[in-house]
Amino acid sequence: GRTLPPLAALSQVLRLERSRRTGIVFPLQKLERYLVPGTDTARFRLFQPGLAALQRAEALFRSDRGHPIDYVSSAVRMDHAPPPALPEVCFIGRSNVGKSSLIRALFSLSPEVEVRVSKTPGHTKKMNFFKVGKFFTLVDMPGYGYRAPQDFVEMVEAYLQERRNLKRTFLLVDGVVGLQKTDHTAVEMLEEFGIPYVMVLTKIDRASRGVLLKNILEIQEFVKENTQGCFPQLFLVSSVEFSGVHLLRCFVAHVTGNLPTVEAS
Ligand code: GDP
Repeated sequence: GRTLPPLAALSQVLRLERSRRTGIVFPLQKLERYLVPGTDTARFRLFQPGLAALQRAEALFRSDRGHPIDYVSSAVRMDHAPPPALPEVCFIGRSNVGKSSLIRALFSLSPEVEVRVSKTPGHTKKMNFFKVGKFFTLVDMPGYGYRAPQDFVEMVEAYLQERRNLKRTFLLVDGVVGLQKTDHTAVEMLEEFGIPYVMVLTKIDRASRGVLLKNILEIQEFVKENTQGCFPQLFLVSSVEFSGVHLLRCFVAHVTGNLPTVEAS
């Protein structure tokens, strides 16, 4: 058998003692008790699936002969994108936010899936499409940043505006540094296009609890006051410890219509 990273599979997480398990599966809830009493935490549990739903979602991310998960293609222009045949989700974020690490963690139960990284400056930035059996596609969008080239901006904007099968956009924000100017620009773009999106806070294992709580509360407040299209629950992840990865798999399965009923835990 192949060795999986520890905690990549729910079966591994279930062997942990209860409090550690909550921290891995529901990292946001684990932090609740450190908040000032009276803090509004209703938004922490809008999406709170039970074990059965988490397991069904995990099965989608586990390839086998009858259920291949493949990198299908990359595209620099919309007319190179594969046909919009399946429900789709896309992941965007600043360069270095942890996007490839997160996509690798999501697909870690299918180690043959190759998540490519093109980090070389000047290297053409592409959209990478992954097909998850007959169920959905996942798109790794190129990292954006300060002085993003115009053709890149145009490609991303065209994709977000035109892709008919796009069900949800996942906007990754670095958990150590919190919302930056470029993240605000991305939010403005998503709001302008009126497409639904979710914010994901990355690298939570690297942030101190104080910094993490500050960033969470700031983002919650920002989302509440300034956005229409953003899902009110923030998703926290660590691709190293696999915290939040199981919940995110389940949310992806849900928004792509592959898990219509999600019973609460
Ligand atoms: P990308 O440019 O958004 O694809 O970012 P990468 O996935 O390449 O990650 C950028 C850097 O952050 C790399 O050095 C990763 O090892 C590190 N990193 C990514 N995710 C995590 C995480 O969850 N925890 C920690 N500690 N480091 C991470």
